Amino acid sequence: MAETGTTQPTYEGGCHCGEIRYRVTGVAIFAAYCHCRSCTMSSGAPLVGWATFDEKSFAFTKGLPTDRVSSPAVHRTFCPTCGSALTYTHAERPDQIDVTLATVDDPVGITPMCHVWVSEKRPWFAIGDELPRYTEWPGSTLA
Ligand SMILES: [Zn+2]
Ligand SMILES: [Zn+2]
Repeated sequence: MAETGTTQPTYEGGCHCGEIRYRVTGVAIFAAYCHCRSCTMSSGAPLVGWATFDEKSFAFTKGLPTDRVSSPAVHRTFCPTCGSALTYTHAERPDQIDVTLATVDDPVGITPMCHVWVSEKRPWFAIGDELPRYTEWPGSTLA
C-alpha cells in the first residue's frame, strides 16, 4: 500500500507465485514503457512498464531471485519458480534500480511518462496513447 503525504511512499511487490517479494521506498525517479528486444524477450510481453528508484531504497524481503546478465553490464532478476521479471540494473547507473511496474502491488502515483526503444517495437503492437515515443532513450530521436 503506497502512503501519501509528507512521508515517503513505500511500495511492495513480488512475483506471480509469491515466492519472491520486495519493498522499495521513495518516489519513482522515472517510469516508462520499454519496447526493446531484451525486455520483450525476457518477459514474453509486447512491452514492459518500468519504474526507476534509488537502488539503496530497494530490498528483496522474501525469497532469492535468479540474477541473469542479459546484455553486457545489465542484470535482470526473475523468480526462479514462476519466471516473473522483477528488476533491471545497469552498470552505467549503479545508484538506480528499475522495477517491473506490473509486479508492484499498488502503484499509486506511478505513471509511465513515455515509450522508449520504439525502434525495436514489435510490428504487431499498436501504441494507443499520446505519450512521447523515443527511438531509444529519452533525448534520442522521437519515433
Ligand atoms: Zn514466483
Ligand atoms: Zn528494455
